[in-house]
Amino acid sequence: MINQIRIFRLLTLCLIVFCFTDCNRDDSLQDSFTDNQETIDDDIDNDTDDNENNDNTNDQEPTGDDIDGDTDDNENNDDTDDSEDGDGEITEITLYKVVEGNITKVKDYEVTGSSLEFQNDIAKHQEIWELTKKVIPQNQMNLITEFLIFSGGSSGIAGYVVEKVDDLSKWHFAIAIDYAYEGGFNKDGELVHTLIHEFGHVLTLNITQVDATISDEDCMNYFTGEGCAKPEAYINLLQTRFWADIEDEFNAISTEEEHAAFYTKYRDRFVTNYAATNPGEDIAEVFARFVIRAGGVNGNAITEQKIQLMYDAEELTAVRDYIRQNDIVAKRSTFLPAEKLKRIHFCGTTRKRANSKF
Ligand SMILES: [Zn+2]
Repeated sequence: MINQIRIFRLLTLCLIVFCFTDCNRDDSLQDSFTDNQETIDDDIDNDTDDNENNDNTNDQEPTGDDIDGDTDDNENNDDTDDSEDGDGEITEITLYKVVEGNITKVKDYEVTGSSLEFQNDIAKHQEIWELTKKVIPQNQMNLITEFLIFSGGSSGIAGYVVEKVDDLSKWHFAIAIDYAYEGGFNKDGELVHTLIHEFGHVLTLNITQVDATISDEDCMNYFTGEGCAKPEAYINLLQTRFWADIEDEFNAISTEEEHAAFYTKYRDRFVTNYAATNPGEDIAEVFARFVIRAGGVNGNAITEQKIQLMYDAEELTAVRDYIRQNDIVAKRSTFLPAEKLKRIHFCGTTRKRANSKF
């Protein structure tokens, strides 16, 4: 069977490892870092984890045999290999189901080359999963029903999540194995960061937070793309407090250059440049910062107020405690190598996400 990546009418939330075009403009920040790295335990700084992993809201249907009833049109990729063809597509490798914290193989996709090698290296799948379990607490593991190992190839996509059922109670969680082992397993804590970021999406977009039965037109709160955020939903609080006043300006953006300019203008509001993509990516990046950075809130800057929003939530602090007590070293390089800056990735979503432009 041909391994197909389906560009899909689902909002898929991804973490991408490449930068915006404006990454280089973070030189001022970079200069303030001594070693460009941080650990989960010793980072007491303000903003040293700004790296700009571009996570995106892409529209990729991860599974070849989706069972969630959604349409799977727009199949525009019939790659049978994992060559880096530069068009930003991923290669599905192995799909697992998640039951009571364990993964059981559902299927291997037909792959060749390095993806086949990754497919055969089941120990690596398990190693990634074991780390995933250190990020997702047992009492929330029921939110995750599928786990996909894929190859990011040239896509830059390090991980993504997408809902598996319309009510947002079950999620598909996907990790790029080639990036997970790039330079060694979890090098510089990149994989841990990806896992935390992606789980941040699940925490802020699941059924307890978002009502998928309410349409955009009828939504009185922030419409996430998946549904209407509940009044006290973390993402609704974040959008109301920190995006409402710049919403019109953001909505007027129509080009990547304008978006880069938007970030530059409001960079003091965002923990990373990618956080400026939309409130969904903002809250995932804030969550990752909140978890990884030691200490509490530092001052009253908007970025710190966003982190305070996390500390105000008992559920989120419990997750933070869980992850940190697992002693996962999250040394994350502050800035990505120059060769990774050449590609530009922005979110792409066909499902309308409020405030999402790319
Ligand atoms: Zn994301």
